[in-house]
Amino acid sequence: MSESPYRLVVSKRRKTAAIQVKEGQVSVHVPPNTDQQWINQFVADHRIWIAKKIAQQAQLKNEKYQLKEGELFPILGDEKEIQFLRANQYGINVTDSSIKISFPDTDSKSKTVIKACIEFYLQTLAKEYFPKRCQEITQALDIPNQISEIRFKKTKSKWGHCTHKGVLQFNWLIMMSPIPVIDYLAAHECCHLIHPNHSKQFWNLVSSIEPGYQEARLWIKNNGHRLWFE
Ligand SMILES: [Zn+2]
Repeated sequence: MSESPYRLVVSKRRKTAAIQVKEGQVSVHVPPNTDQQWINQFVADHRIWIAKKIAQQAQLKNEKYQLKEGELFPILGDEKEIQFLRANQYGINVTDSSIKISFPDTDSKSKTVIKACIEFYLQTLAKEYFPKRCQEITQALDIPNQISEIRFKKTKSKWGHCTHKGVLQFNWLIMMSPIPVIDYLAAHECCHLIHPNHSKQFWNLVSSIEPGYQEARLWIKNNGHRLWFE
């Protein structure tokens, strides 16, 4: 029986053993004085689960966008090639097929530059798009003055939020996704101004604004994890 290499973590607070897989690294957490042979057996018993986890995490990592010259990056669902231009000033210019990022010759921290430029671009796009779209939606819903504020935030898994005071919050990473998905998110949060829940009435209202919303929901479910970069 082959053994997986792992890191053993002995913790006084632990009462049971557990295996964790993080970024492809396996660690086994056990209470003090756990028998080594028992641990070996415990790991052996979980080897299929461990292998699956490692493979899953490797795939997820592969699917994430890399901020490198020549790599593809999506804006409004269209993948564009990241290109570098040497210039006196920092800048970003998005065309049909490319994202041209300019920075001075002396700057060697290209990854930081790409990240800052793309963040700026996506934030600007979100700040232009959502207020306009949300205004259209709230007018269609006949609640034109219900939004008190629209905020933008980058979070790992939350796409939008609506408070009882009428503050809408959007994750600007959604600007990486296709427009129907962005429109669905806007409709979802605006409809919460009327129904602060996920009741049948809420979904009917979303459907009245975005009849194809179920496709957008499915898109987020299947692709949401890819909308991230570091
Ligand atoms: Zn909701």
